[in-house]
Amino acid sequence: MAVTESRCDLTYCKMRGIVSVLTAFIKERKMGLNDFIQRLISNPHICQHSAVESFLKIDENQNEATADGLGPASLFQPRSSLAEETQIKPSDFDYLKIIGKGSFGKVLLARHKESTEYYAVKVLQKKIILKKKEQKHIMAERSVLMKNIKHPFLVGLHYSFQTTDKLYFVLDYVNGGELFYHLQRERVFLEPRARFYAAEIASALGYLHSLHIVYRDLKPENILLDSQGHIVLTDFGLCKEGLEPNGTTTTFCGTPEYLAPEVLQKQAYDRTVDWWCLGSVLYEMLYGLPPFYSRNTAEMYNNILHKSLVLKPNVSNAGRELLEGLLHKDRTQRLGVKDDFLELKYHAFFSPINWDDLMAKKVTPPFVPSVTGPTDLRHFDPEFTHLPVTSSLCSTDNLTVTSSVREAAGAFPGFSYGPPADRAFM
Ligand code: AMP
Repeated sequence: MAVTESRCDLTYCKMRGIVSVLTAFIKERKMGLNDFIQRLISNPHICQHSAVESFLKIDENQNEATADGLGPASLFQPRSSLAEETQIKPSDFDYLKIIGKGSFGKVLLARHKESTEYYAVKVLQKKIILKKKEQKHIMAERSVLMKNIKHPFLVGLHYSFQTTDKLYFVLDYVNGGELFYHLQRERVFLEPRARFYAAEIASALGYLHSLHIVYRDLKPENILLDSQGHIVLTDFGLCKEGLEPNGTTTTFCGTPEYLAPEVLQKQAYDRTVDWWCLGSVLYEMLYGLPPFYSRNTAEMYNNILHKSLVLKPNVSNAGRELLEGLLHKDRTQRLGVKDDFLELKYHAFFSPINWDDLMAKKVTPPFVPSVTGPTDLRHFDPEFTHLPVTSSLCSTDNLTVTSSVREAAGAFPGFSYGPPADRAFM
C-alpha cells in the first residue's frame, strides 16, 4: 500500500515538473512572439503591409471580445498582444519619492494605485545603457531576479516591464536604509553586529553560487536593511550568470575599493571573487575603512595587488583569521575555493551563529532601524529624497522618436515579466 502511494506521489511530482517546464517554455515563447510583434509594429513600413495590418486587426478584435469580461481577477491579464502592455505599465503607480540613484537611472518609492502596496521601482534609461553597452548586464539583472530566486536576504522582483525609452523593475521596498548609511554614522560595528550581517550576506551569496550565479558587486550601497534589521542584497546588474563551480570569467567591473586582485589584473575570476568582496565589507564594518584603502585610486590598486594585509589586534583572533582567509590575494588559496559557503559556515568566527535560525529569520537583529511606516524615509539620503519626482516617468508621449530611441525601443527583447494574474500584487 505504502509503495503504491509513494509511486503515485512520484508520478504526481513528475507530472508537476513536466507541467512547470512546459509552462515556462510556453511563457518564454510567448514573450519572444510578443517582442517580435512589437518590433514589427515599431517599423512603420512593415505596419503598412496588408498582411500585417489584417493580423493586427484580428488581435484588436480579440481584445474587444475579452475586454467585456474584465473582472478584478483579470486586472493584469493581457489587454493587447504586446507583452509590454499586457500586465502592468508605469501609470499604474504613484511615484512618491526618489530613494536612490545608480549609474543608469533612479530608484523610486512607488505605490501601486489598485492595491495601495508600496514598491521600490528601479527605472533605467535605455539610451544610457546602450551608450555604455551594458544591455547584457541589465538583462542579467532581470534574468537573475526572475530565475525564481527566493532567499530571505535577496530582494524580490514582482515585475519588470519597458516603455520605448525606459526599463522598469518593480522590487520589494526595503526601507531600513543602506548598510553603508548606518556604518558611516557609527564608523565601525561591534563584532557581534558585523558577524550577524556577514552571516546573512554569506548565506545569500552561497545560495546564488548554488545557482551558478556570481554576485560580483558586493558593496555597502547594495546591502540594505529591512525594517526589522535583516540584510537585503539588491542590484543584480553585475551578476555573472552561468558560471559553473570552477568556471571563470574576465569582464572588468565592480567597485574600485572592493576589486579583487584577479579582477584588477584582468585575469580570469570565479565565485571566490564574492568571498574577497565579503572580506572587504567585513573589514570595513570592523575597521571603518575598506582594506588597502587610499584616497589615491592608483595607490589603492597598487595596495590591493601588492601590499600585505595589516590587521590591528582590536578584532578577535577568529575574526582576523577569517579576514586573512577571505582577503587572500591568490584566489586559489582563498577561503571558499574548495567548498564555497560551507567553508565560511563552519569557520570559528561564525560559531555563535545558528544557521537554521538565521535562515528562518529567528535570530534577533542587533539593530532595528526605527521606521514609522513605508513613507518614513529617514534612512534614505536627503540628497535623493529631496529631488523632485518628474512626471516623465509615467509617459513617453513627449518623446521625440529619433533613430537612437527606435534602436533603444527594440534592444531589450523579452525583458517584460510578471507573475501569473492570480499572484499579481498580492
Ligand atoms: P541600485 O541601482 O540597485 O544600486 O540602487 C541605487 C540605490 O537605490 C541603492 O543603493 C539603494 O539606496 C536604493 N535601492 C535600490 N533598491 C532598493 C529597494 N528595493 N528598496 C529600497 N531602496 C532601494
